[in-house]
Amino acid sequence: MAKDNLDTNKIDKAEECAICLMPSELPVRMPCSHEFCFTCAKGLMKGQNKSCALCRTPIPPNFITNPETFATGAVEAPIGKYSWFYKSRSGWWAYAPRMQTEVEDAFQSGKSTFECILYGQKYILDFIKSIQTFEVQKTQHIKRGLSKSSHLGVAGLRYTVPSE
Ligand SMILES: [Zn+2]
Ligand SMILES: [Zn+2]
Repeated sequence: MAKDNLDTNKIDKAEECAICLMPSELPVRMPCSHEFCFTCAKGLMKGQNKSCALCRTPIPPNFITNPETFATGAVEAPIGKYSWFYKSRSGWWAYAPRMQTEVEDAFQSGKSTFECILYGQKYILDFIKSIQTFEVQKTQHIKRGLSKSSHLGVAGLRYTVPSE
């Protein structure tokens, strides 16, 4: 599928992610130069091999501690007035854009829960209790709030701080 690219500078367009087969969302580039959605790549780290889905090059551990250094572009804040957030040990994070849309659709259609597969695991969001449950026992608070409200970044990717 690779087109001969004479215009190698124009690599801004989101490539299709080989894991979810959708345009890469919050794209990250692995050391082997393969690109995936950040959440898809995070799923690889939860797997047994912790390696690239395409070439099996091991993913370095700092992908978990410093994922921002793997991002191919700036982490964009959610658009729209309201967004969905979850709270990790470090603080509040906005969900990734596609998840935002799906969660909001479920919420607007009057559902009390939303289920999805994230990082290769089942997540259940409970709109009544304002929690998400995953890995059987783990729960985190969730909320629907103003997109502008204070949070760290998107899906575990911090907003880039200028020159660090
Ligand atoms: Zn993906
Ligand atoms: Zn690779």
